[in-house]
Amino acid sequence: MMDRRRISILGVTGSIGASTVSVIESLGADQFDVVAVTGNANVEGLADAARRLRAQVAVTADPQGLAPLRAALAGSGVDAAAGENALVEAASRPADWVMSAIVGAAGLAPTLAAARTGATVALANKECLVAAGPVFLSEIARSGARLLPVDSEHNALFQLTAAERECPIERLILTASGGPFRDRSLAEMAGVTVAQAVAHPNWSMGARISIDSATMFNKALEMVEASHLFPVVPDQIEVLIHPQSIIHSMVGFCDGSILAHLGPPDMRVAIGHALNWPARRDLPVERLDFARLARLDFRAPDTDRFPALRLAREAMASGGVAPCVMNGAHEVALDAFIGGEIGFLDMANLVAETMERLDGLDEASDLEGILAVDADARRVGQELVRRFAA
Ligand code: NDP
Repeated sequence: MMDRRRISILGVTGSIGASTVSVIESLGADQFDVVAVTGNANVEGLADAARRLRAQVAVTADPQGLAPLRAALAGSGVDAAAGENALVEAASRPADWVMSAIVGAAGLAPTLAAARTGATVALANKECLVAAGPVFLSEIARSGARLLPVDSEHNALFQLTAAERECPIERLILTASGGPFRDRSLAEMAGVTVAQAVAHPNWSMGARISIDSATMFNKALEMVEASHLFPVVPDQIEVLIHPQSIIHSMVGFCDGSILAHLGPPDMRVAIGHALNWPARRDLPVERLDFARLARLDFRAPDTDRFPALRLAREAMASGGVAPCVMNGAHEVALDAFIGGEIGFLDMANLVAETMERLDGLDEASDLEGILAVDADARRVGQELVRRFAA
């Protein structure tokens, strides 16, 4: 039986947040003391999660959300708070385990705050490693916090390498479904809509990450994440299209052996692993039936149709703040596509041009420096949105 643990969920109203609540409830919510839950626009969902989990405090990032949040929590015994500072304060409260599932760069400051407490950080947010890898990892090392990757590929790689610490890794193979447009030509992709880009063939995820799967920017961000999490150089990180999303990633060792992690395409597997680690406990997820699956397919990715993969390699080769620039420009491009200002293929062009224009920026050694680079990338990105939209 596991000890009763104090946990917080940053981004409880999102797709990962909901899956985390589902895993907690399947294990028995009364086994956990929930410290803080956070959200942004979805005040009702936040209040509902806070009530169900009997959280100490619920925080919305949006200051306008405080009054409705208070009203929704009236009589529940859950405290309400709002704004970015309140978010960081909630993330700083002592907890044993913190789920970092805020989307985008907004997750940086709260996740860093959680890392500084020495808590185990279950990391779904990609930006902490992509935009701020060295800064984030040095905070983790300084506080003695433990980092458990939740992104399914990195969680798979974590599981595969955990028992093989002494063995030199030859290659990491990140699998990718290829998204809804894996068989579309560039000409066909030029006119796709947001609704088409959101419709992921295998995974049920938030809208932003679903579109990132369609452009393969999701995999680009994951390549950078992997370069920080595992002892490899960028050339050892490969991407392989695997349309069924059953193999979540693979590790090749120096003796030619390859270990693969398989499971249903359900984020509750990775979330449950991070919550129960180092133990494993029963999860209410589908069990694979190989006879029914019958086959698993693979093919090389096409970097002409999916230039995000090439941009990730360029960012890793440049090092320094180049991945932060890529990330900031990518967030602007994604917003502009969702807002109907630019087309699907413009996203990669916008990121590429921002990276070119901001090539050679100084290194950043703290969060303020990272946020300044992020702001530069967003400023250039916005200029380009206006040009592309004209
Ligand atoms: P969602 O868009 O579903 O949820 C995002 C969460 O962040 C919500 O709780 C949202 O609140 C909150 N949020 C949004 N903007 C802000 C802000 N400015 N300040 C504070 N909180 C904010 O995203 P996902 O759950 O899909 O993804 C979360 C993270 O996990 C992302 O970084 C994603 O790349 C990563 N990830 C997701 C996977 C998935 O399967 N979904 C898989 C692997 C990684 P509200 O809804 O109330 O506005």
